[in-house]
Amino acid sequence: MNSAQMRAFLQGFTDRIQAHAQELTDLDAAIGDADHGTNMQRGLSAVMAALPAEGDPAALLKSAAMTMISRVGGASGPLYGTAFLRAATAKAGREEWTITDLRAALEAAYGGLLERGKAQPGDKTMLDAWRPALDALAAGTPADAAQAARAGADATRLLVARKGRASYLGERSVGHLDPGAVSSALMFEALAQALQ
Ligand code: ADP
Ligand code: MG
Ligand code: MG
Repeated sequence: MNSAQMRAFLQGFTDRIQAHAQELTDLDAAIGDADHGTNMQRGLSAVMAALPAEGDPAALLKSAAMTMISRVGGASGPLYGTAFLRAATAKAGREEWTITDLRAALEAAYGGLLERGKAQPGDKTMLDAWRPALDALAAGTPADAAQAARAGADATRLLVARKGRASYLGERSVGHLDPGAVSSALMFEALAQALQ
């Protein structure tokens, strides 16, 4: 993964969020506070506006991280921001990431999500897209990770929310997709497209 591919990933994630913003907000309306689409849209537009013209992949990702943390008020901004920051820190100064670098960077990102959110897979959060994606990536490609992320997001329908706003609903959260897991599937799809 080089700088152009990192830029393409961030642009692709932004484009997908724009295209699915209403859907993400509708999902959040069912089990949260109806702002996940607008939170992500606002954050990622700011990410693209602030992205430096030059820099290695980690420098671009670090810029995106800082913008997500500072510009998104909801839970998702600090979570994505922390994930991006951990990945950037893990691979700082490297001009091109190998697939091994990418796997390690994403595992570092996932570690940041665990620490920041104190959730576990099965709690009906974005982790339920991330964990299967990283398991698929360990022995496969970014396209495999994207497929696993989407399957994981779809499977959140059956889960009871135990973290975040949706946890206030308890059992009543069953039957709805977790919005952050769906935005994470869009993220892994953007990554796969940028690297194909
Ligand atoms: P808010 O809940 O503050 O309004 P968003 O609606 O933007 O923020 O984001 C909600 C999403 O954040 C959830 O769908 C879930 O995927 C994710 N999330 C919330 N809390 C946690 C947590 N503790 N750990 C991991 N992900 C979380
Ligand atoms: Mg919300
Ligand atoms: Mg909110």
